[in-house]
Order: sequence, then structure tokens, then C-alpha cells
Amino acid sequence: MLIVKKFGGTSVGSNERIVRVARRCVEEYQKGNDVVVVLSAMGKTTDVLLEQARAINPRASKRELDMLLTTGEQTSVALMAMAIQAMHVPAISLNAFQAAMHTTSNYGNARLKRIDTERILHELSERKIVIITGFQGINKFGDYTTLGRGGSDTTAVALAAALHADACEIYTDVDGVYTADPRIVKNARKLDEITYDEMLDLATSGAGVLHNRSVEMAKKYGVVLVVRSSLNDSEGTVVKEEVSVERMLISGVALDKKAARISVMGVKDEPGIAFKLFNVLAKNNINVDIILQSIGRDNTKDISFTVDEDAADEAIELILENKNRITLKSVNCKKDVAKVSIVGAGMVSNPGVASKMFEALYNVGVNINMISTSEIRITVLVEEKDGEKAMNAIHDAFGLAES
Ligand code: ADP
Ligand code: ASP
Ligand code: MG
Repeated sequence: MLIVKKFGGTSVGSNERIVRVARRCVEEYQKGNDVVVVLSAMGKTTDVLLEQARAINPRASKRELDMLLTTGEQTSVALMAMAIQAMHVPAISLNAFQAAMHTTSNYGNARLKRIDTERILHELSERKIVIITGFQGINKFGDYTTLGRGGSDTTAVALAAALHADACEIYTDVDGVYTADPRIVKNARKLDEITYDEMLDLATSGAGVLHNRSVEMAKKYGVVLVVRSSLNDSEGTVVKEEVSVERMLISGVALDKKAARISVMGVKDEPGIAFKLFNVLAKNNINVDIILQSIGRDNTKDISFTVDEDAADEAIELILENKNRITLKSVNCKKDVAKVSIVGAGMVSNPGVASKMFEALYNVGVNINMISTSEIRITVLVEEKDGEKAMNAIHDAFGLAES
């Protein structure tokens, strides 16, 4: 069997942990399996590197940022190879160039396009454990790129798909996917299984346990994922197309504190304005989430929407550059907001879900700023200070707690 194992930052956060992961990989190898290991940077390395960059140049170019960030993963793979070799097992570390992980050209948020697997397959055929840098790729200019925060999960899934792996295991610092972030909701319950669609919506709504693109890719290529702990042997959560247990109404609650609300005030109430506004953002790869447009008055209207907090300043700059085309009077940005979402395939056929969510918020005195819904998700925008309280209240209201 060929097994891809991915270990996140905390799991390789110290020398002891690296040795422990090495042991786990060697055990798999000694069962006769081919083992491909994908690693994140050690502990908080990526954050530390970003802070260092910011201190030197707050407007550092995205290319140089990627050049810097890729060093984090390169350190952990080399150390892991050394740890495995010290156990007298052959191992080799490869970075994105050596493993030929081709991506789109946009630095900081590139997408994997193609992996040339010859080198990896060759190393495996020599019975080596192959350890590959997560999160990074190479673009057509021959530069390093990165896949966005949390992107190592996506590297692992892409490799599992390209190598036709028999299993793809994501090892992290919790026991699996829970009904809510177990660090915020103390009585959250571990799920045995979850569908790709539900996991994708949870991940996109702030459940950082999996990078959302990794779930998208797993669904596309039918890669069954197992999310489990690197610290113990408990079973974990299986992410796949269909689950066997009866569908619960709601699978989980997610919180995203990194949202910002932008309000564009006093634009003309005429065709084409929304197009011009969102086109400017789309052309610059800025993702827009909840959108709210006021009813026109005196031939003008207001449009509010949410973006990723990190993209907010750039969005405002772009909007102001296009002020005349968009016909706005003023624009403002609020960063202390959070999105709270519930996700569940069962809600499609159940009309009372939204009102139950809103009632839970009302009961704890949380005001709702904006609302958006899809077939299997309802998201509300609240004040950031209310986010955790809201998440707990909703989790309780739907009876998701450990029984
Ligand atoms: P890694 O470094 O292993 O990739 P991450 O920090 O990216 O780890 O993801 C694991 C974290 O995700 C957990 O520590 C937990 O706080 C958070 N998390 C958020 N939502 C959930 C959820 N629904 N289930 C499990 N963990 C969650
Ligand atoms: N090291 C990267 C990050 O911290 C990628 C990852 O951990 O998945 O975002
Ligand atoms: Mg992660």
C-alpha cells in the first residue's frame, strides 16, 4: 500500500515531536508500505517569519514573502529525514522544486496544477521514505509560491491523488473533526464521519482543521481523508462522499474571526454598479462573501459585503482607485466582526433551522449584522467580541454536545 501522511505544525513543533513522528512513519514503513510524508513548518514558524518580514518591510512583495515562508517547511523535512535516517531507515526530503509541484503563478495564494511524480516514484522504488514540503509550489517563472495559510493539507491531498495512494492521513493536534472547534466549545463532540460537502463548508467558514482547498480536491479526486491525532492512536474522522450514519440536522458550527465588512455608500441606483464594484475585486483575486444591498433611495443605494480581513486594505484601495466608475460617496471598513456558520446536509429539508439559530443568538443578546444562506449552510455576521459566545449558544441550541 502507498500511504500519504501529513503532519501539521504542532505535530512537528519540537525535536522530540519530530522523533516521535519519525517513529510513526518508520512503523508504517516496516509493515511493508510505501510512505510519503508531508510536513508543515515547525510550530509557529510561519507566523514568526511573517512578523519578521513585517518588521523589515510592511509592504514586502509577495514573491519575497513566499521565498521566506518556504524555508519553514524546508527545515522540517530535512530534520525529519535526519531523524528517520538515525533510525537506520532510508529517507529523503524533497522541496517543491525537487518534487515538481507546479502551481499557478500568484504568490501567497497559488493553486496546485500538476505534480510530475517521476522523482517521488523513483525514490519510493528504492524503498525510501519520501518527505515532502507542504504548503509550497513552483510557478512558471521558476519561483517558489505558497498555497495560502494551512495549505499543507492541500499538498497532501494532491500527492495522494497524483500517486493514487491507498490512504491519506492528516495528523493534527486534535482527535479529529469536531462539531465545533474544541478549543472554543468545550463540550464539542468528535464526528466519526463527515461528507466532503459539509467539511468543505465548515472549512470555508473558519474550521481551520482542514484547508478548504484540500477538501475540494479530495472530493474532486475521490481521496478519502482521515483526520486524526499525532499524539495518540484514537480513530479520527473520515471525510468522504457519503456517510453511513443517519444524517444529523446540523454537523457543526464554525467561527471565522478573520472577516471584515466593507460598506460602499451612496452608489448610483442603476444597472452595472454592482458589476463594476465586484469585478474590480475579482480581477485582483479578492474573495467576497456575504453581500447585502440596501433598497434604493433618492436614486442611490449602499452595498455592504465581507472579505477576508487580510484582504480588506487592498480591497479599500482598489475601490478608492475606481471611485468614479463605481460612483460611490464614501466607503468604510469594519474589522472587528466575525462570521458564525452552521453547516448540515439535513437542513435542506428542514424549515425551522434558521429561526432556531437566530433564537439562540437572541437568547444570549447577540445582534446579527448580516445573514447569508446556502443549501447546507447559514452564516451570520456578528461583532467579533460576541463570536465565541454565539458559537457556544448555537452549539447548545442544536444539541450537538457530547452526550
Ligand atoms: P495543523 O498544524 O495540524 O494543520 P491546525 O491548527 O491547522 O493544525 O488545525 C487544527 C486546529 O483546528 C485545532 O487545534 C482546532 O483548534 C482547530 N479547529 C477549528 N475547528 C475545528 C473543528 N470543527 N474540529 C476540530 N478542530 C477544529
Ligand atoms: N506552515 C503553513 C501555515 O502555517 C502551512 C500549514 O501549516 O499548513 O499556514
Ligand atoms: Mg492546518
